[in-house]
Amino acid sequence: MILMTWNNAQLFASSEDLVIIQGIIGRIELPSNQVTELLAVGSIPYFTRGLRIHHLISDYSPVILFKTLQDPHIILERIQETGFKCMGRETTNCLQCGTEIPEDKTYCPKCGWSYDG
Ligand SMILES: [Zn+2]
Repeated sequence: MILMTWNNAQLFASSEDLVIIQGIIGRIELPSNQVTELLAVGSIPYFTRGLRIHHLISDYSPVILFKTLQDPHIILERIQETGFKCMGRETTNCLQCGTEIPEDKTYCPKCGWSYDG
């Protein structure tokens, strides 16, 4: 399903992934479990509006902005209609010992280091 086209770039969405195809950059595939956040941005000013995609794939820049002249909120709705969900989770590691800190905790389960200082 083609959702939008801009500067020869096309965005496809399905319940499994987002795919962006553009002449110069080629093909970017973003499986739902690698996408952490999708945001519609910038209704004003007009020229910067689009869809901001946060993801975990290190091959691509960590935030992809897909510019569009269409209302990004509508595009976001259409992506959600395909069944696509952001399943990616950013992991936070303890700055002291490197242990992964669970999302619901504000301190390290191993050494007790805390963000709350
Ligand atoms: Zn720790």
